[in-house]
Amino acid sequence: MKRKINILPNNVINQIAAGEVIQRPASVVKELLENSIDAQANNIQIIIQNAGKTLIQIIDDGYGMNKIDAEMCFEKHATSKIQKTEDIMKISTMGFRGEALGSIASVSQVELKTKTKSEKSGTGIIIDNSKIKKITETPTKTGTSISVKNLFFNIPARKKFLKSDQVEMKYILETFMQIAIANHQIGFKLINNGSNLYNLSPTNLKKRIIQIFGNRYKNKILPIKESTSIVNIEGFIGNPLDAKKTRGEQFIYINNRYIKSAYLNHAIKTSMENIITKDHHPSYFLFLNISSDLIDINVHPNKTEVKFEDEKSIYQILKSATKKAIGMNNIMPSLDFSTEESFEIPLHVQNRPAKEPKLNINPHFNPFKEKDDREQENLQNLENLFKDDINENPFIRDIINIDNNYAIFLLNQDKSINLMDKKGAIQRINYEKALNTFQQKQIQFTIEPIILDFNNIDIQLIKENTKLISSLGYRISEITKNHVILDAIPANMKNTNTQEVIESFLEEIKLKNDNIHDLLIQKMAQQFAYNKSAKKDNYLLNEKTTLNAIIMELLNCKTPFIGINGKPCVINIEINKIFQ
Ligand code: ADP
Ligand code: MG
Repeated sequence: MKRKINILPNNVINQIAAGEVIQRPASVVKELLENSIDAQANNIQIIIQNAGKTLIQIIDDGYGMNKIDAEMCFEKHATSKIQKTEDIMKISTMGFRGEALGSIASVSQVELKTKTKSEKSGTGIIIDNSKIKKITETPTKTGTSISVKNLFFNIPARKKFLKSDQVEMKYILETFMQIAIANHQIGFKLINNGSNLYNLSPTNLKKRIIQIFGNRYKNKILPIKESTSIVNIEGFIGNPLDAKKTRGEQFIYINNRYIKSAYLNHAIKTSMENIITKDHHPSYFLFLNISSDLIDINVHPNKTEVKFEDEKSIYQILKSATKKAIGMNNIMPSLDFSTEESFEIPLHVQNRPAKEPKLNINPHFNPFKEKDDREQENLQNLENLFKDDINENPFIRDIINIDNNYAIFLLNQDKSINLMDKKGAIQRINYEKALNTFQQKQIQFTIEPIILDFNNIDIQLIKENTKLISSLGYRISEITKNHVILDAIPANMKNTNTQEVIESFLEEIKLKNDNIHDLLIQKMAQQFAYNKSAKKDNYLLNEKTTLNAIIMELLNCKTPFIGINGKPCVINIEINKIFQ
């Protein structure tokens, strides 16, 4: 009888495995870089030809391999990093599956040169289609050089699936940045088609970010550091006022491994509520350390998602750590006149028009000497305001009204000018006041019941959330097929459009966020503030004493200088920077 079942030959097994590990040139770059890092390299050089399609060469000065290991390393499941199952739980290296080199060798032509410190001369190996073609004794430096040539030469179908050089190079650069940021203590050199793209000397994290993204990051990233029993967070977060419309530099690492997490991204974004608008994306470079028994690291080598227990707590911790780092209380938008240092700008673009000044943060700004006694002092001060002459205000040196919309104020012991948008300022003040009152949950009964119209879906949603909506002060007395009837609303909300408020609640509820109660209170406060500040005469206040009171109230806000629409309501201008 004829046998139907065969055991697959090794190179075919490797090619199948390679399909998972090596999808494109960038995957080779990732695997080889991780191996060099695992080999404790201090300097790594990457040479790319044709977006990695014809050549990817990685040269490191790590501990290298001796002849026996060099011959072994291309075997399937060849690894020096784990020996038994328990080892997986405490893995500290980037790789451990022993799949990468075997996979790479099955889909390309590989040349390896390597030498350990104790050997006099090194080993050279040439591999074609998983088979060792040649082993030589080769003079070489301690460390390893691996050249991967003609990727997918033996799998035309895969080769066809590769994208244009430009796209594949973009993937390589992304991988390069992800790794170079996390390993700032290592020097990296990247040469593409003969030209030097990056030459990064070993440094600290902040300087590495500047090395890669340019000097504009110098004053614009805020350090973040938080330790708790389940997670330690460290890194930098970009100036929220500098957030971009495109998702830019967002790097999160768990235990030094780059990950993508929409969930954690959301935590960071919500921490900046009322500072950045919804369609803007903050940049961040964050390193989370989580005890390895709380996360599943045995994930697919190429997956950038991780599973971890207690996701919710990590979300909360990250959110509050970010909030703290931004120092909500002290965010002060300021005009940035410093010119960006040209960073290898090609000649033809050097003549570009002068850049407009951008908004920046003045992180040292603090209108009050000591925060502790700030509230007490200010309360007293506010009381005195209407009685006393402005000159006696210990904080404000002078106020100049410009027109109905804007004013300038100067603070004592400060050499800068503050430009205020009155409407934005008053909205901010009203918003924060409203937040406080709504948290006290005062309600007022309405003389006539308020009847609101909704469609079936919304009625269903209201039924499911009756308790929540009532807890905010909107007391529901009856729900019919298409109507909701209220007999009480929160105190202070009688001048707002109740239908609109409840509709905005439903929008928020549909998003299924965690802290929905707080979010809805914020919505109410926002509606209240917009409504109250919409009355024109409210901000057409040009009297010095009134402006004085507005500024004092503003300085007492939690986020004084950012309007509730996310745009600055006060901009600080440091004069010495203009004339420098
Ligand atoms: P893994 O990294 O999962 O162990 P790889 O296939 O990537 O599997 O590598 C196999 C083995 O080859 C590694 O465990 C390591 O011992 C050795 N190796 C690979 N690259 C290097 C390098 N650049 N320097 C020293 N040893 C290396
Ligand atoms: Mg590896």
